[in-house]
Amino acid sequence: MKMRQSRQGDKQGEVDFTKPDFDLDERRPLGLGKIYVAGYGKSEIHESGGGGGWFSRLLLTFLFLVLMLGGALVAMVEMYPPQGVLILEYHKVNDRTKDDYTVSPTEFSAQMDALKEDGYTAISVLDFLRAKKGKQELPEKPVVVTFDDGYSDNYTEALPILEKRGMKATVFMVTNDIGLPGYLTWDQLHDMEKRGVELGSHTANHLPLTEMTLDEARDEVQKSKLQMEWKGLKTIFVLSYPNGKYDKYMPKILKEEEYLAAVTGDPGLNTFQTDPYRLLRTNIPPSHFGIREFRLRIWKSKAMALLGLWQNVGEMKE
Ligand SMILES: [Zn+2]
Repeated sequence: MKMRQSRQGDKQGEVDFTKPDFDLDERRPLGLGKIYVAGYGKSEIHESGGGGGWFSRLLLTFLFLVLMLGGALVAMVEMYPPQGVLILEYHKVNDRTKDDYTVSPTEFSAQMDALKEDGYTAISVLDFLRAKKGKQELPEKPVVVTFDDGYSDNYTEALPILEKRGMKATVFMVTNDIGLPGYLTWDQLHDMEKRGVELGSHTANHLPLTEMTLDEARDEVQKSKLQMEWKGLKTIFVLSYPNGKYDKYMPKILKEEEYLAAVTGDPGLNTFQTDPYRLLRTNIPPSHFGIREFRLRIWKSKAMALLGLWQNVGEMKE
């Protein structure tokens, strides 16, 4: 089915592409004659003039092909949407802070509405992992709504918006920040968990795991998990890499520390072939162009999944 679509795209390309070429062919004797005659004595100018014509034709052809391929890709994503779990990455949801990590409650509500409108069902990371083991069925269009860092507005602003729409969410905590001003408290975490929010670790101190010794990295992921579990929260199975940074040593450490999965900042869609310790996530910063920008970000992840670009399939080699 995919082949047929791409042929269709090519065929369309041929029709439009050959048209200017035929025109050029018809004019060629005249055009060439002119250049040939005028070329005597002023060869430099006319050679460069001829070169320019050739170059601009090539450039036009190139631009045309880029447009055609772009158009074909848009059609492909719409007609043959790639399968996989979409994971969204948020940080703060409020009207107070204006930075690259804050989405306003109005904007967040509109985005959750858009997801529902587009047929998405919110699941947890654990739902996805259970489905991978054949223990659960996934909805047709699954989405995981995640929050990094553990800001208190996740409880005061985001949770009511999600609950109103019957949507699940996952919050990744920096455990040494729990209870600090602006961050979630232990009581809020217990309440969130009761209300169906999945909790994960974002390490103990939010330091990039790739910029410390392996023992220190192990400490960061181990302590944060234990801190939450000792406080009576459910077992922590999922980690979010601080600053999205990971390397080939991380999956092994996480496996040994009894984590089942980790999310990155690499965009794409997650299938059962995706390395569970390098799950793909689509970042959602505040938008400048409204809901279209939100949908475009999701589209980009779909396009990358369709093309199979940087989709973290299989185990990490380097
Ligand atoms: Zn973070």
